Amino acid sequence: MASVEFKNVTKSFGAFNAVSDVSFAIGDGEFVCLLGPSGCGKTTSLRMIAGLETPSHGQVLIGGDDVTNLHPKDRQISMVFQDYALYPHMNLADNIAYPLKVRGEPIQKRHGRAKEVADVLKIGHLMDRLPSQISGGQQQRTSLARALVYPSRVYLFDEPLSNLDAKLRLEARGFLNHLQRDMGMTAVYVTHDQAEAMALATRIALMDQGRIVQYAPPIEIYRRPATTFVANFVGNPPMNLVQVDAAHGDGQLQLKADGLTLSSLPMSSGIAAALATAKTLTLGIRPEHLAIAEPGRANTISGTLFANENMGPESLVTIERPDTSRLTARIFTDDHIALTEAVSLSFAPEHIHLFDSTGARIPA
Ligand code: ATP
Repeated sequence: MASVEFKNVTKSFGAFNAVSDVSFAIGDGEFVCLLGPSGCGKTTSLRMIAGLETPSHGQVLIGGDDVTNLHPKDRQISMVFQDYALYPHMNLADNIAYPLKVRGEPIQKRHGRAKEVADVLKIGHLMDRLPSQISGGQQQRTSLARALVYPSRVYLFDEPLSNLDAKLRLEARGFLNHLQRDMGMTAVYVTHDQAEAMALATRIALMDQGRIVQYAPPIEIYRRPATTFVANFVGNPPMNLVQVDAAHGDGQLQLKADGLTLSSLPMSSGIAAALATAKTLTLGIRPEHLAIAEPGRANTISGTLFANENMGPESLVTIERPDTSRLTARIFTDDHIALTEAVSLSFAPEHIHLFDSTGARIPA
């Protein structure tokens, strides 16, 4: 296993920067997810680690060695693709053993090793079948087996679960998590599914428009999102964001918005700096930190009922505010909640997040 590092990496296609001056380091044995919306530069970053794209500027290091101009086959990496990229005319045994064949291993040794890996992945009984004769989930495991059959320094995954149905996807995700615990592999995993990144990553690199906006363990990204973009991307449903007017005096901060009652908060140097440029802030509250409350209580936000969805173990209650913005509360109950039209949602002040007018988190 080995570390991976980007030093000021830019990749341009014509005048467009798909990846802009990105620097980050992945430790030996870390499982890093590149997460972000479509087109933010995840796959391009992964392909530069694989050697399938060459950076326009900057350096890529694997195990401390500069591999920026090294051919993919000399990098000792394995890659699992979204479409599995299995050879249709080869049976599973030959597909899985292929990386050993190209390295000149004798047939018996490579088929023995392929069977071992296939057994671990529970496809050992299918070795004579062609890819067209097995299910999508089995094809995904075949592709994984082929990546694991030969020891690599780094394992690269490009949305490997996106063609699976919801149930198989959860099962395969659990399996990957187990594999990571077992092998301690260095992995870089591209996904646009925040739940997948939260479940698998030791650290998430959240990307937007060719840049990394936050690089931190999943729980840190959830608890202290660096920007409103991150707050909105991670969490299901995403964090509620409300524009508030801010006033301060006597070391206290007052936040005002339609339907909001919030006790005064202590001022901090971060808040003072934010208020030096704008009197409007963004207040963030996660849906799971809201509860149904009596109207008029302190630390509540009110509106009219928009939707009340019972999901089994929890309900999603959405209210609409006078400015037509909406807030969703996630209430953990398996009872249907009876609500009239006016709804107040309460929260604990320690659960609020504040962002300045540029969308950057204001440190507590
Ligand atoms: P997705 O989740 O949709 O796969 P992504 O985050 O992986 O997206 P990339 O595939 O890395 O995004 O692409 C980043 C940007 O670079 C996109 O705007 C894409 O259109 C552009 N791009 C990627 N490859 C090329 C290319 N070969 N030529 C021109 N533009 C490209």
